[in-house]
Amino acid sequence: MPQKVLVIEDSLTSTKVLQKVIQKAGYNAVCASSLFQAKHLFDQSMPEEFLCAIVDFHLPDAPNGESIDFTIEAYIPTIVVTGREDEETRSVIIAKRIVDYFTKGNSQFYEYLSRLLTRLERNKQIGILVVEDSRAERNATIALLQRHNFVTYAASNVQDGLAQIKQHKQIKLVITDDDLPDMSGIKMAETLRQTYSKEDLAIIGISYQGRPGLSAGFIKSGANDYLTRPYCHEEFFCRVIQNVEYIENIDAIQRAANTDYLTGLPNRRYFFSKVNSILQSPPVEMSCALLDIDYFKKINDSYGHDAGDEVLKALAQTLLKHCQQYQIARLGGEEFCIFMPDLALVEASLFIEKLRQKVEQLSIPFANKLLQCTISIGLTDQYTGSIDDMLLRADKLLYQAKAQGRNQLVTD
Ligand code: GH3
Ligand code: MG
Ligand code: MG
Repeated sequence: MPQKVLVIEDSLTSTKVLQKVIQKAGYNAVCASSLFQAKHLFDQSMPEEFLCAIVDFHLPDAPNGESIDFTIEAYIPTIVVTGREDEETRSVIIAKRIVDYFTKGNSQFYEYLSRLLTRLERNKQIGILVVEDSRAERNATIALLQRHNFVTYAASNVQDGLAQIKQHKQIKLVITDDDLPDMSGIKMAETLRQTYSKEDLAIIGISYQGRPGLSAGFIKSGANDYLTRPYCHEEFFCRVIQNVEYIENIDAIQRAANTDYLTGLPNRRYFFSKVNSILQSPPVEMSCALLDIDYFKKINDSYGHDAGDEVLKALAQTLLKHCQQYQIARLGGEEFCIFMPDLALVEASLFIEKLRQKVEQLSIPFANKLLQCTISIGLTDQYTGSIDDMLLRADKLLYQAKAQGRNQLVTD
């Protein structure tokens, strides 16, 4: 069930465009043309059902932003739209606990809004740690971040901050003051960089207008960015979002580089880097299986390339389910491998034989048909110092399995 976005807007044209933007972003628009109607709609729902509200500053029954107060008090993240461009209206709006505001004349408005809606949903998965010893400042910053749905963590000193980062993998951004009781924020940034790169964890240092060296100090110590106090909320959010998006983009690139596009399995590149890092201190027992779909070319020839792709995807899903605790990869074409550290040959062969049977029993729906496939597997436990040699050995055994009639496991 898609989340709802509450729209309180009296102009029909504006409402129609907003509805389109909201639907395109994947949410349900629930529209009211007055505060009265909005209250009625709200009474029929739970506040958590709403991702956010988009509220017109000026409505016939709420001429001075009263609707904004209503949605804020109902704990709905609130985005304000207004036709007024004067400084006075802006300062009235900004003083309220809103997510953001837009003037209707801005041609970039709808583009920005659609990005903001996506962000509000994604932010629920992103942890931000605020390290600040003044309770008032700390709570104010946390409250700002919560308006944007971020998962927040707070620490009043560096030691506690470092412990929380270690504990909560969800933390992707640290916002830190410099003046802290046990260590400076700059020193904290330096310490964090010994473990986390700029791509793993973003750091924003808080600097002060009276101390010009501080911002440069933060950057030189590994911070991604800095904010100079006093800053306005808009600037704060722009910086936070920019840094969160940087981390997300790097993460997406890394994922793409390590994943096979068709099946979503780890690819060859990722497999070798992961297995080689395990082999830095080789386990006493280990096994490696190489498997290949039997007569796969026939599936392509009989039902088409798309059918072949469906079979590959179904096999990948079976591998993900059955072998999730091990290192699996699509090495290329219709060839997959499974590296099983700490598993001796006898146990590994029982485990892989079960996998073979599962694959044999698969019924893969494609164009009103149910497709089937079998696999041949070579399994070895001979490790002579390189994973490449282990795979070569598994390949020899796989060749034997094919020669002996396919749909079978051959082990050392
Ligand atoms: P064998 O039992 O000896 O393994 O026979 P086979 O037909 O499975 O093996 P062969 O190596 O002759 O053919 C593999 C085929 O896999 C050829 C190639 O077109 C097809 N193939 C490779 N990658 C993909 C892919 O991503 N999608 C599809 N649909 N087919 C692929
Ligand atoms: Mg094959
Ligand atoms: Mg092949």
